[in-house]
Amino acid sequence: MASRDTADLPPPQHHGDDPEEALEFPFSEAPAPGQLMPIDDRISWLRMPLPFQRLDHINLYVLDDGEAYTLVDSGLATDETRAIWRQLLAGPLSDKPVGRIVITHFHPDHVGLAGWLCQRTGAAIWMTRTEFFFARVFQLEATPQPPQAALDFFERAGFSDQAMDKLKAARYDNYSRATSKLPLDYHRLKAGDQLENGDRTWTIRIGSGHSPEHACLYEAEAGILISGDQILPRITSNVGVYPGEPLANPLADWLDSIDRFSKLPEKTLVLPAHHGPFIGLRKRLEEIRGSHIRRLKALSKHCAEPRSAIEAFPVLFKRRLKGMDFILATAESLAHLHYLEAGGFVARRIDGPVHRFQTVRPYDNGAGG
Ligand SMILES: [Zn+2]
Repeated sequence: MASRDTADLPPPQHHGDDPEEALEFPFSEAPAPGQLMPIDDRISWLRMPLPFQRLDHINLYVLDDGEAYTLVDSGLATDETRAIWRQLLAGPLSDKPVGRIVITHFHPDHVGLAGWLCQRTGAAIWMTRTEFFFARVFQLEATPQPPQAALDFFERAGFSDQAMDKLKAARYDNYSRATSKLPLDYHRLKAGDQLENGDRTWTIRIGSGHSPEHACLYEAEAGILISGDQILPRITSNVGVYPGEPLANPLADWLDSIDRFSKLPEKTLVLPAHHGPFIGLRKRLEEIRGSHIRRLKALSKHCAEPRSAIEAFPVLFKRRLKGMDFILATAESLAHLHYLEAGGFVARRIDGPVHRFQTVRPYDNGAGG
């Protein structure tokens, strides 16, 4: 039922599978697409399909305050997801109005149908400012072919001539095709904002690194965190450098966010955007931190000789990468190299069009990043 148009859309920005260690998954089953499964009497868990081989779903959450619904995230703009929303809005969600559409961040599987839902329900979109304007700009800037600045960016990262040819032939307007048009106006979410929802008060917590100003919703009394892609139990959120900000250091933001979210209680029930709700937040954050530290150490050794982002792949990724995964991996490789560069561990060597990084001081930080 997925429309033909979705076949070459980018996958959500994650890669790799991490072993989950001793996290507790209190729900033995996940809802079928379009089915609302109660988490408790105020929250329902909803799954929408994603047309990607390695990740076939996104979790959305519906909050019920007794008088209206708050939707958290919206799903990818596909015919299949639209059909499921139509059924829900005409059926199980028809008894109350939709009061808010909260979107955690600008990635297409989260914001995809926000504009469409906003038109259909009359509810406002609630997002952080950076995420809303990222989404708007990506929609406006859509061009079928990659712009020159993007080609230069990937050439600097060390793309082969063959990879550059593939990139030149690839579509660059996937974002606008995977998202419904956003309205001009939105309701801004900021760190610390409180969303009243019946007898619950959700506090907005901001994460960064996977996306610039990612909103999570935390309810201290019930001990529940709707984490979006900021904390995922089984896959690693992509932390990458992209052509729009070619010298960015998102891994520093990501590790800072891990520090901040680690202050939440370990018994918090985490409702993530992919895979199942889990308990074991700090354990999971430490696993994620550890995987980045291991990669930084491996890179530090590998860069005894100058290496481009592509030449760093052998110590960063186990799988052979192609298509969009190759782009995401390039972004992630640069994120680790830029983190080392910012800390004075590697220096950039410019060799014709290609930028390489060489170790000048070993990275040996065992714990804190
Ligand atoms: Zn994401």
